[in-house]
Amino acid sequence: MSEKIKCLIIGSGPAGYTAAIYAARANLNPVVYEGLQPGGQLTITTEIENFPGYPEGVTGPEMMNQLKAQAERFGTDVRFGIITGVDFSQRPYKVIADNNHEMEADVVIIATGASAKYLGLDSEEKFKGLGVSACATCDGFFYRGKDVAVVGGGDTAAEEASYLAGICNKVYMIVSRDELRAYKAMQKRVMENPKIEILWNHNTDEILGDNSGVTGAKLINNKTNEEKIIDIHGFFVAIGHNPNSEIFRDYLETDEVGYILTEKGSSKTKLPGVFAAGDIQDSTYRQAVTAAGSGCMAAIDAERLLAENE
Ligand code: NDP
Repeated sequence: MSEKIKCLIIGSGPAGYTAAIYAARANLNPVVYEGLQPGGQLTITTEIENFPGYPEGVTGPEMMNQLKAQAERFGTDVRFGIITGVDFSQRPYKVIADNNHEMEADVVIIATGASAKYLGLDSEEKFKGLGVSACATCDGFFYRGKDVAVVGGGDTAAEEASYLAGICNKVYMIVSRDELRAYKAMQKRVMENPKIEILWNHNTDEILGDNSGVTGAKLINNKTNEEKIIDIHGFFVAIGHNPNSEIFRDYLETDEVGYILTEKGSSKTKLPGVFAAGDIQDSTYRQAVTAAGSGCMAAIDAERLLAENE
């Protein structure tokens, strides 16, 4: 027997929890599946200083705990589990959690966010968890006093490099161009940090290591073709994200990268009763506050559709 659910929310970042807060207060009895990374990307970030209402800043995990508590306060059923399959060919929509739990949902809000990208090197795969990481806040502590590298030139890379500089002996920033993409204040912060050395125009050819884990990286200067070996113990990848939309792509329209397309100014996908909120449908702003705003929109869109159907 399938479990009947009125409003299923997939994902537990700011979009998912904000949708849950609104849906719960509108009596939609929302069920949230937390997914692979409960709390979403903010749980692996450090200080959030740009979310309105926190003049002193707040840590990512703290904010996510508060959002979860707020959603639960209004009766949201938050479940630890992963949605492994969907059948959106007819309503009510069929959804499977953890490969075995079948549900039928009147409306579905997809808030599955995006996941860290990796370089795609064999050596990177080999040393994942043994020195290769996509999360400085999670793993930086293991490399205290040691030399590490961060790949990427965006805000994530700059933030991770700054964070690691507070723990490690030295941080190389491996940047493929001769400029950073990070916002200006962040650029200044990394450039002025004496512990951070930016290696401009460098690509990673191979991550070196032995049984103990990562010991170095072989880099190539893409202007001169010169090879450079750096001795490091931690290799942090911060080159952007992929939208987590794989299981929905047979039913919904996405852009070429996989971001779900929604109707302009709303959270509506091409299927009635399936809404998308947060980074899964936003490759432009990708902020906690914009994700939260779109989660609110999705819950309101869902509530209106259910009211119309009734
Ligand atoms: P971005 O897409 O902004 O940056 C990715 C970086 O990685 C770029 O410098 C890119 O180079 C580089 N890169 C991509 N592929 C490779 C590769 N294969 N090898 C080497 N380098 C590579 O991603 P971010 O995760 O940094 O940021 C995503 C969004 O989140 C942005 O909008 C950002 O502003 C926001 N953000 C905001 C924060 C805050 O406000 N506190 C903190 C973190 C993120 P190139 O520049 O050449 O494309």
